[in-house]
Amino acid sequence: MTSFADLGLSAPLVEALTGLGYEEPTPIQADAIPALLAGRDLLGQAATGTGKTAAFALPLLQRLAATRPVPLRPALLVLVPTRELAMQVSEAFHKYGRALGTSVVPIYGGQAFSQQIKILRRGVHVVVATPGRALDHIRRKTLNLQGLAAIVLDEADEMLDMGFAEELESILSTAPAVRQTALFSATLPPRITIIGERHLKNPVRI
Ligand code: AMP
Repeated sequence: MTSFADLGLSAPLVEALTGLGYEEPTPIQADAIPALLAGRDLLGQAATGTGKTAAFALPLLQRLAATRPVPLRPALLVLVPTRELAMQVSEAFHKYGRALGTSVVPIYGGQAFSQQIKILRRGVHVVVATPGRALDHIRRKTLNLQGLAAIVLDEADEMLDMGFAEELESILSTAPAVRQTALFSATLPPRITIIGERHLKNPVRI
């Protein structure tokens, strides 16, 4: 049996997972964690319930912590289709990242800008956002992407179904070219693989 430590995760994260009752990695975690820890881009086909959130959150949190970042500008941006998923993914990052001192905020439409701006101004390591609201903040210059080390597109097919193609394109083009990118989708139709070809560098496919 492969353990989380065998995959290369650090002691604080392994302890956090033990505390949460995670006994062993799910298949997607076993494949994705070493690849993302090594800094690779990733194109993953995965449904919800497979453990995909931890599959990207754990290795990206570990890489982030290794740089001992000051959260002046976010280092990690996760784009998700809905407010519910933004809250859920943000909560997962909070749970896993607590031991590393990582700060995270969900940013979604329908919530007042003022509160979101206050948190972004104060500084945060990880932003989990819906694409429309993320782009609004980028245009208002309240979300600065220049410190990003990695971007995750979670449920990319859902984001396209919701009409976020232009927002995704714009955000991916604004972010620094030198970065790590992971794209997860339940299905991989051509419109997703085209985004993968444009924005991922030699990705590991899972
Ligand atoms: P997800 O597919 O990311 O939506 O995760 C589905 C659920 O599985 C979440 O409630 C996670 O907390 C839980 N989970 C993820 N990985 C593991 C694991 N290795 N062992 C036990 N539970 C897990």
